[in-house]
Amino acid sequence: MSYRFTLEPYKTMKTIHICPNCEKRTFTRYIDTESNNEYLHSNVGKCSRQIKCNYHYTPKQYFQDTNFKIEYKFKPVQIVKQPPPKQPSFINPSLVDKSLENNDNNFIHFLETKLFGKEITKELIKEYKIGTSNVWKGSTIFWQIDTNSKVKTGKIMLYNKDTGKRIKKPYNHINWVHKTEKINDFNLEQCYFGLHLINKYKDLPIAIVESEKTAIISSVYLPEFVWLACGSINNLTKEKTKVLKGRNVVLFPDLRGYQLWKNKIPQLSKLANYRISELLERKATEYEKKQGYDLADYLINLNIDYKNAIFS
Ligand SMILES: [Zn+2]
Repeated sequence: MSYRFTLEPYKTMKTIHICPNCEKRTFTRYIDTESNNEYLHSNVGKCSRQIKCNYHYTPKQYFQDTNFKIEYKFKPVQIVKQPPPKQPSFINPSLVDKSLENNDNNFIHFLETKLFGKEITKELIKEYKIGTSNVWKGSTIFWQIDTNSKVKTGKIMLYNKDTGKRIKKPYNHINWVHKTEKINDFNLEQCYFGLHLINKYKDLPIAIVESEKTAIISSVYLPEFVWLACGSINNLTKEKTKVLKGRNVVLFPDLRGYQLWKNKIPQLSKLANYRISELLERKATEYEKKQGYDLADYLINLNIDYKNAIFS
């Protein structure tokens, strides 16, 4: 059986060429036996330095590659066609406005009656755009709005209106606006809760906590920071912290998250400066550690001088 394209048989040194890969004279080219033994492209051939070079560009590969209309100067690389990157989807901002009209909201009730009273709570609703959802009666929407005022999504949760604790029984009450609105082909790209505030307070350092509730409550006790929530312990990532460029950032992990967040700092975007608060680590009792207390639990329940305690 003979092939149409074969390596040129050795005749004289004229049939040995310069290898396009290792540039030694050790290269045999392919010829077309049906077309007067014409050479194929000068890169199509085989290097005899099998261990040190091992270049072998076959006619089959060459014809496949040229269908893509790509000319190889050197060793061919495999072409992997990437699908175009998907653009992130956004929520219609009118849904945010609509969610602010109704205040039958357990979390807001808790803030108002147990913690801060009417005036401060009103300010908090305005600042963080604390929305109300009717997915469950009294449920809260924490909108994720980026620095360009684009609405990425809203996290819907239900709280007990007297204790301010999340309702997780008989099932965990958590949902998302992009799901409840049934938006087709929604390409979710989350951002930190409170992100829309960072440019409003350009000179303030940024504080990051895990939960939206903690961010909101801490902003009253410690207004010298802009408070953001990353939403879950694993959302502290390089990608999501890029937007904090040039800022001083203090991480306030929950008691269960201290070591994890501390270990993550080297992997975060180098564009910002990070510190981590050891406040809870140092102050917490064994019981509180087991409960996984967060900063809000402390600020609400204990009467200590936080402003001095945080970094001392
Ligand atoms: Zn070679």
